[in-house]
Amino acid sequence: MKTIFEKSNDIDGITLIDEQYKIDFIDEKYLRNDKIGLPQTSELNVLRHYKELSDRNFCIEKGFYPLGSCTMKYNPKVNEKLANLDGFLNLHPALKDEDVQGSLELMFKLQEALKTITGMDAVSLQPAAGAHGEFSGMMIVKKYFETKGENRKKVIIPDSAHGTNPASAKMAGFDIVQVKSNKKGQIDIDSLKEVLTEDVAAIMMTNPNTLGIFEENVLEISNLMHKNGSLLYYDGANFNAIMGYTNPKLMGFDIVHINLHKTFATPHGGGGPGAGPIGVVEEMKEFLPAPVITFDGEMYHRNYNIKNSIGAVIGYFGNFGILVRAYSYILMLGKYLKNVSEDAVLNANYMKEKLKNHYKIPYDEPCMHEFVLSGDLQKEKGISTLNIAKRLMDSGVHPPTIYFPLIVHEAMMIEPTETEDKKVLDEFIDTMLQIAKEVEENPEIILNSPNNTPVKKVDETLAARKPDLKYVMGN
Ligand SMILES: *Cc1c(COP(=O)(O)O)cnc(C)c1O
Repeated sequence: MKTIFEKSNDIDGITLIDEQYKIDFIDEKYLRNDKIGLPQTSELNVLRHYKELSDRNFCIEKGFYPLGSCTMKYNPKVNEKLANLDGFLNLHPALKDEDVQGSLELMFKLQEALKTITGMDAVSLQPAAGAHGEFSGMMIVKKYFETKGENRKKVIIPDSAHGTNPASAKMAGFDIVQVKSNKKGQIDIDSLKEVLTEDVAAIMMTNPNTLGIFEENVLEISNLMHKNGSLLYYDGANFNAIMGYTNPKLMGFDIVHINLHKTFATPHGGGGPGAGPIGVVEEMKEFLPAPVITFDGEMYHRNYNIKNSIGAVIGYFGNFGILVRAYSYILMLGKYLKNVSEDAVLNANYMKEKLKNHYKIPYDEPCMHEFVLSGDLQKEKGISTLNIAKRLMDSGVHPPTIYFPLIVHEAMMIEPTETEDKKVLDEFIDTMLQIAKEVEENPEIILNSPNNTPVKKVDETLAARKPDLKYVMGN
């Protein structure tokens, strides 16, 4: 594929001192007098260019996307339609409360819905992503202990955790203490007791954890933590597994975030935007980032008057468009949100059972919405998990998450989600079995993959150190 520069008739572009473009209120000495170097071509050619680029992109509408931990489910188009209504889309964030009652009502009702779903007592919609919610939550932990006059410096994080957990705690000024997983892929209680000292502020947990396994001892853990005067933070990235069945409040958590873009259907393949609202128990309410939306019986307000608020963590409303999508998704499903989790868990267990005799399974437990395989058996024969991922691309599917969680060698983390039917799952299973067979019979074909993608096999190191845009576009 050619770059837009190669498709252009003229790449000189304009100069701002051309008589035609002269801006009379800026002194000439500040105006660019060399050509700006932009491509020049027709509107039609620009459209063709971007259409061609978008055709090369992978998305859920193109194929199966079992990217573990990311919940790449189908996002119903009705949510897009509602978020794009003129009254939402073209709202200026600086408008007064009385002029945006409808949008504030939507935010208030979303807060209420998230309170019900998480069991928490108060919610702030501010954070713009999961990691941002974690950071806000850690700031709350910090402020909570400062207010109590306690100096607690440590945050405990399991070795299976997502990398954003230690990063967020560290950014908020805590020292990280790792706790080991046991043979069942769950937090090892004895190891936890060893690291649970007086200066521990909190533990950050994901449940089900990043191995897709439910932490059975979560109540014992929350009792231990609370007895120690420590708090529990819940990373809600895996909420798709538990909706309507249980919630972090019942498990004993004090602060949670939810990734609206994962669980509540916002497209998020390209890195955003997202939203990571946080919920807290009554005792933490006074620390929430401001504003939260309140209702006085007549009007909805943005309330900045929160006693010990950690302050605003984003400008204005947060990522409002994502909030609209999440609210519409929640309203559309209502009590059937429970079925989302049910089907997500069923799909994952079905695939796990079909694949576990062909790939090593490090934790052969019933899984939740995702499961982790190891490519160790294939690696012994010279085929790495990376090779397998590339080979999968030849079948038009997005590879699963690989080499994460870090505690599993050659990890493949597979999350089918609830929005795929059995036929799609079976096709993926067949492809995985076919690849396992190729490892024995025809490893060359795997080593040369991918063959059917616009970009073929790249040199991983060179591609990162010396990116060649033209090559990336598949010549
Ligand atoms: C995705 C994810 C995060 C981070 O969420 P972002 O919205 O990408 O910032 C944190 N923890 C887990 C387990 C995740 O899967």
